[in-house]
Amino acid sequence: MISISSTPKTIIPITELEQSAFCQVEGNLRTKTLEEEFQSGVRWQKVPTRYLKLTPEQVEAGIKYARKEIGTKAVVLGHHYQREDVIQFADFRGDSYLLSKHAAETKEAKWIIFCGVHFMAETADLLSDDDQHVILPNMAAGCSMADMAASDDVEDAWDDLMDVLGEGENGQAEIIPITYMNSTAAIKALCGRNGGLVCTSSNADAAYDWALARGKRILFLPDQHLGRNTGLAKGIPAEDMVVWNPFRPMGGLSEEQLHNSKVVLWQGHCSVHTRFTVKQIEEARRNDPDVNVVVHPECVREVVDAADCNGSTEFIRKTVEGAPAGTSWAIGTEINMVNRLRDGNPDKRIFCLDPVVCPCATMYRIHPAYVLWVLEGIMAGVGINVVQVDAETKRDALVALERMLEVGG
Ligand code: SF4
Repeated sequence: MISISSTPKTIIPITELEQSAFCQVEGNLRTKTLEEEFQSGVRWQKVPTRYLKLTPEQVEAGIKYARKEIGTKAVVLGHHYQREDVIQFADFRGDSYLLSKHAAETKEAKWIIFCGVHFMAETADLLSDDDQHVILPNMAAGCSMADMAASDDVEDAWDDLMDVLGEGENGQAEIIPITYMNSTAAIKALCGRNGGLVCTSSNADAAYDWALARGKRILFLPDQHLGRNTGLAKGIPAEDMVVWNPFRPMGGLSEEQLHNSKVVLWQGHCSVHTRFTVKQIEEARRNDPDVNVVVHPECVREVVDAADCNGSTEFIRKTVEGAPAGTSWAIGTEINMVNRLRDGNPDKRIFCLDPVVCPCATMYRIHPAYVLWVLEGIMAGVGINVVQVDAETKRDALVALERMLEVGG
């Protein structure tokens, strides 16, 4: 008999201050006890006190034991940005989309433990079967970018856009919403209800084509940088892309600006990827004229322009792993992933563009003790931190996800 313990309905939005809570000049991301990590100043989900003082070794032994006991009834998915002490237990590693696909394909496991952030666990719930339960070990592991597009704000913005632009005619919409995978299920559902779709950083380009074949312009949520970089790569002039500020009436835009626009970019960003600068790229090239610079398209336009190439987390991984021995790589993405690429490719020189060691503070909140907590819950027949999307949201969000699959990329 399985019971689902009461789970917080909403997660706590992450502040910019919290996002830099784990940054340090001396790069030692060694896992400490949960009690010690609670001193970091970020908000953590409460956990039974007995987990607070467990040493990393005790936690590791506990997880190994629980995994053996539970067997194939549970699968652990680990995002590339997870800390080493967590990802070592992952059955599958990948970016958010790949992991959700794994969740959908892994029918045997009744429990899907998603070591990532909240929107990823929601997406896994959307794609998995009804008798599978998705668990996020720490419900305080949100995503600051996804938090920047609160569903009430986006609903209001959509109503304003409809008032100004209208629905369109002759089968062509005035505006089509596209949301990046890094958004809540509610935003994905809004896109599904309104003729739009979801995209990833791998297929944003194809999603633009799909949308512009059906509408005059795009509303891109929630990452303005991915939206802008994608538009520029497709030849859309920067001046045709306007930014919607959710804190100002009508997004701070005039009706004329909206009518003249090709893309309306939501004013959101990733606090991790916006740390990278052109100055860091120049410094890397000064130190090593042969260095290759690869960055994520969530970086600002100037950084993407200055880099040698840009692409999704999976693109970065494949590019660096596939590069010839002896090459040198400066990478603009999350530090845990860069460190793992460095350790796994000793024949290359690999380093992070940012000299400050700054992990994604929400990903970092998946401390191994939380993983042990939820695994022990499963052993006791209790689902802790089960993420469940309501039926109506699920129906509409799946429409937007299916359109993404149609687009491919
Ligand atoms: S790296 Fe950026 S987009 Fe990814 S989870 Fe962290 S804050 Fe969100």
